[in-house]
Amino acid sequence: MGDKRQLTFDEIKEKFPDALKNGNIYVCYQAQINHVTGRLAGAEALMRWEDPDHGPQYPADFIPFLEQADLIFKADLFVFREVCALQNYCRNRNIPLVPISVNMSRYDIYNNNQYVEEIEKIRREYGIPVDMLRIEITESSAIGGTKLITSVLEHLHQIGYVVEMDDFGAGYSSLNILKDLNVDIIKLDMNFLNGEIGGRGGTIISSMVQMTKWLNTPVIAEGVETLEQADYMSSIGCYYIQGYLYSKPIKRTEFLELAGKYDHEPQYSGKGLLNDIDSGKFWNPDSMETLLFNNFVGPAAIFTYENGKIEFMRVNTKFVKEIGAEAVDKTALNIGLEQMDETGSKIYEQTIKKAIETREEEECETWIDVSSRCCGDDRLCIRSHMRLIGTAGDQYIFYVRIRNITAERLQYIYLEDNEKKFRMAIEQNNAFAWEYDIATKKMRPCSRCRRELGLPEVLENYPEPMIENGFFPAESADMYRRWHKELAEGKDHLEAIIPLTEDRIPFIVRYTAEFDEAGRPYKAYGSATEVKGYNMAWHKSNSSNNDKGK
Ligand code: C2E
Ligand code: CA
Ligand code: CA
Repeated sequence: MGDKRQLTFDEIKEKFPDALKNGNIYVCYQAQINHVTGRLAGAEALMRWEDPDHGPQYPADFIPFLEQADLIFKADLFVFREVCALQNYCRNRNIPLVPISVNMSRYDIYNNNQYVEEIEKIRREYGIPVDMLRIEITESSAIGGTKLITSVLEHLHQIGYVVEMDDFGAGYSSLNILKDLNVDIIKLDMNFLNGEIGGRGGTIISSMVQMTKWLNTPVIAEGVETLEQADYMSSIGCYYIQGYLYSKPIKRTEFLELAGKYDHEPQYSGKGLLNDIDSGKFWNPDSMETLLFNNFVGPAAIFTYENGKIEFMRVNTKFVKEIGAEAVDKTALNIGLEQMDETGSKIYEQTIKKAIETREEEECETWIDVSSRCCGDDRLCIRSHMRLIGTAGDQYIFYVRIRNITAERLQYIYLEDNEKKFRMAIEQNNAFAWEYDIATKKMRPCSRCRRELGLPEVLENYPEPMIENGFFPAESADMYRRWHKELAEGKDHLEAIIPLTEDRIPFIVRYTAEFDEAGRPYKAYGSATEVKGYNMAWHKSNSSNNDKGK
């Protein structure tokens, strides 16, 4: 009966549970083909809804409603289950199949951090190998911060999922997303080209493909409708095609039939290498790639490694800035293993070798010597993230992102140095030391106190915790409390012999206060040193005089 029309929000909410049960919601599959080899490489699972009263509903219409109604999580898990069931069906009958991608809505992670756990439950229930399933995320998942999506991504990667970035290329900002989100495959939407290839749209697309090659990420072109488009895409290095040209999204049985007709592409294993990297635009300073390289990625460079030598071939402007060099590429290009000290160059080379072996991004920190006209000679600590992106003969080509962490490192070394001196001085004097914040009554014990007395980093409401735990004996407690009052009132020095610990060992306890610019007391430094051979019994009868202020 009924008229063919789009379901309203309320109808969607109401009909959803039954639609799932009755099979009105189901899954279609769209093939992904390697246009060069003509082999089937994968497929995408797409949700469909056929309403018995009002006819087919379109994902573009109903998915947003499901998201608003908080139903998308259920829907996506349904799709995931269907895909697992299909993989299981094929495996049980020895029918070879390709990996299938499912779409993850950003609401799946916003509203529910159970997404990964839930899909894992389903996957394990069917016993499907993780490399037969892929997850598509969209750039918009990163809206509102990349933290959440990054942690989901990491979790998926840990398990072994290949993660695809859907609808890449909808805006220039996408390139920024790529450096934050470590996705394995990129899906470029051809629709934003509006059918135009060549011209400006083509230039952008070809540059994007080139960029993704630098990042070593395979690309799938989506929405490819014509042979011309497919040929163009593969001519610029994007071989995987998903679109009406090869197949519309089709029902399970039809898809199995289609899958049976094609040879299957060998499984995608990690990021591929490019071997034609030195060709053409890659090295051309006027190319679009260079423009993107300079503007849309952080401090980065391309260097080559050959017979134990590295040579920087390309650095972007941010790279030059990051190492504080003047905007003369030459300076930046002059970083080689020679500019590092012996340990540094060893570490760098080890990292290079590791990156060659693992084909993963590897990380290291090294000190380099740079000299520039403005600042003279300088030593910088650089953190590098490098990844092998290509080989040419004996040459290995690397893409490296860097960060200048000199300030952080120096601060750390300074702190570590001070802490070490402090600790040594204290331990030589056989003392315990602590810092008392007069306003907040917080006490920060030295590392020896923490180690030997089992104290935490900070004690609140000092000195009460140390009295409570019996370290300061009850008979000295009031005197010790009075001290802290006096410190707050401006006393600058306090000293007394106090029996400490359950064993009542005599310690000389001292406080020296520090004042702020207005003359208000704000910190006091305490120490306790054991007094050998001191007679506590004698002390007890004299303790009232021991508290000598200054
Ligand atoms: P998408 O993930 O970008 O999916 C690709 C869309 O492009 C699909 O639309 C597909 O039918 C369409 N398409 C494929 N080839 C061509 C082509 O050659 N030309 C044109 N013009 N279009 C093509 P569909 O199935 O309508 O899905 C629309 C969107 O709805 C999807 O975009 C996806 O964002 C969302 N969606 C679909 N299924 C699911 C799902 O199970 N879960 C979630 N969360 N979202 C889904
Ligand atoms: Ca998708
Ligand atoms: Ca897409």
